[in-house]
Amino acid sequence: MSQKISGVKGMNDLLPGEIEIWQSVEGRARDVFGRFGYGEIRTPMVEDTALFVRSVGEETDIVGKEMYTFEDKGGRSLSLRPEGTAPAARAYIEHSVNNQEPVTRWFYMGPMFRYERMKTGRYRQFYQIGAEAYGAKEAAQDVEMMDMVVQFLESLDLKDISLNLNSLGDEACRPAYHAKLVEYLKAHREELCGDCQRRMETNPLRVLDCKNEKCQAVAAAGPNVLEFLCEPCRAHFNDLQRKLTGLGIKYVVNPRMVRGLDYYTRTVFEFIAAHPALGTASTVGGGGRYDTMMKGLGGPDVPAVGFAMGLDRLVLLLKESGKKFTQAPDLFVVAVDEGSQDLALTLTSRLRREGLRVDFDTRGGSLKSQMKRADKSGAHFTLVLGEAERTSGQAKLKRMAGGEPIPVTLDDVAKALRAHRDAAPA
Ligand code: ATP
Ligand code: MG
Repeated sequence: MSQKISGVKGMNDLLPGEIEIWQSVEGRARDVFGRFGYGEIRTPMVEDTALFVRSVGEETDIVGKEMYTFEDKGGRSLSLRPEGTAPAARAYIEHSVNNQEPVTRWFYMGPMFRYERMKTGRYRQFYQIGAEAYGAKEAAQDVEMMDMVVQFLESLDLKDISLNLNSLGDEACRPAYHAKLVEYLKAHREELCGDCQRRMETNPLRVLDCKNEKCQAVAAAGPNVLEFLCEPCRAHFNDLQRKLTGLGIKYVVNPRMVRGLDYYTRTVFEFIAAHPALGTASTVGGGGRYDTMMKGLGGPDVPAVGFAMGLDRLVLLLKESGKKFTQAPDLFVVAVDEGSQDLALTLTSRLRREGLRVDFDTRGGSLKSQMKRADKSGAHFTLVLGEAERTSGQAKLKRMAGGEPIPVTLDDVAKALRAHRDAAPA
């Protein structure tokens, strides 16, 4: 016997039964984001490695440890995209979009790749839905984006997700905070993990992001970034909060939140779900403002704000909700003899063309086994075809939930099904 080949660790198959939840989430995102004027982009799954090194940052876990990097046959260093902001920025710059319109709103969805230690809600191929708005530096743009996420989560009926906010300042005020943070971390060097002892030299902000408990305790007692904000950054952050309150959006200010990427300036935010199904992977999404990244990538001086949500984690929450996502067939056609099999094939073909969800057993078989299949399919109605139905052109629609069968002519099955489907209570 040949040896079985398994899928790659940390990369999942999505099959019918579950895929409907994914499609529903994607559909809601397209719908809600469309209402906010965001257009969908699709960029390649692979980019020049330098793109992520320069934007996400060499010292981040993503670039330093988690990237799938390889050399192609032409000797180029390529990476599977670990996130979507840098590819979107690259596309924006490459297509000179800033010359075509002052403000651009884009969203994307698709797989991302990170070589991570797996657990619930943490995979090596995972999926993100994200959005970017280019061209507006105003807090109103940040608020619009958070409102969009809130409305998207509402459309999925997901509750108990809290919005955490912080401001990281800008190039004017961050250096003073940095200096203070380094001074503080140096004094607590011995309490930090090995990684953080290194990070405090190369990128001290990353220490605040460390998952190690001891490092978190050190970070919690350290300097508060909000106390270092310069006047324009403070005004931006105040404006942001005032506008959120104006929209009735609840939030919590968390001055220790820095997020795992290097490019943020001013606003950062996270949506955190308090649900045991997620275990420690409780952040369903996050984002922030990156006003200097475009220039850093050799592009125009365009401010931007963006976010990404983890689709896998949203699906885990929706699975817990007990909500039904699969759609049962409207009708299951049962053919009791050879001759009726052909009629079943033409009838189902016609009904499907007319927009109905129809199932039948292409293998034929006994009436009993087909009825069993019909039952299992969850179809709302069944229709049995035998010699009598073939000759008379008349049949009966049997409601699987019970009740009197409904007489129909074979030409009018679609009409009858629609009438009863629309009349049925949801
Ligand atoms: P975490 O702190 O959980 O590692 P992160 O800061 O690395 O998250 P981002 O890069 O901000 O995450 O990505 C945005 C969202 O994408 C996360 O909030 C999460 O929902 C999802 N996500 C990130 N990494 C993974 C992964 N390996 N598997 C599944 N979802 C992920
Ligand atoms: Mg991570």
